[in-house]
Amino acid sequence: MLTPLMAQGSEGGNMQDDYVIEQMISAKAIAARIEALSREIETRFAGTEKLVVVGLLRGSFVFIADLVRELQLPVEVDFLEASSYGNAMESSREVRILKDLRGEIAGRDVLVVEDIVDTGHTLRHVINFLGHRDPKRLETIALLDKPSRREVDVRASWTGFEIPDAFVVGYGIDYAQRNRNLPYIGVVRMRS
Ligand code: 5GP
Repeated sequence: MLTPLMAQGSEGGNMQDDYVIEQMISAKAIAARIEALSREIETRFAGTEKLVVVGLLRGSFVFIADLVRELQLPVEVDFLEASSYGNAMESSREVRILKDLRGEIAGRDVLVVEDIVDTGHTLRHVINFLGHRDPKRLETIALLDKPSRREVDVRASWTGFEIPDAFVVGYGIDYAQRNRNLPYIGVVRMRS
């Protein structure tokens, strides 16, 4: 259910009330889902020496923070940055790695944490990129999945929520670098 007018695009900026944000997934629902997914991930990686949790910058930074605090496994955290939408609302099909991991992953258990799987190009590229380094196990988790937008055949090992084709923000996810600090996931609605 959507709650209208939770936030708007005009606060503190020079964007003149040009969009509003409607809540789509509450902070409480996100927390409950992370708790459930963590139990599944613990089962999958039971007995791991150390799980390398790789956050894809920047959209996954809130998700990874909550996820690693819920996971009852020994973890190490690393980050990878892939090119993304930039300041636009359209996906770029050419993915580039802008920032590589600091650590080695050969022979190690790895969990890649993505904010949204949209066309799938980013996740596919990252799986290929890291897969070449011979990790012991390479799994992926995405907070959000937009299956109707898929252009390449890729699926995260775990998904938080399947959502329709809408542009979302909050919980780490931005629109032109804003709204990352909303505690919930919301849909951007442009004012006409
Ligand atoms: P893909 O390569 O799957 O098309 O795109 C994945 C990336 O596009 C995500 O990691 C995210 O950065 C960005 N993205 C996809 N959908 C949305 C959205 O609804 N809002 C925002 N802000 N970014 C999105």
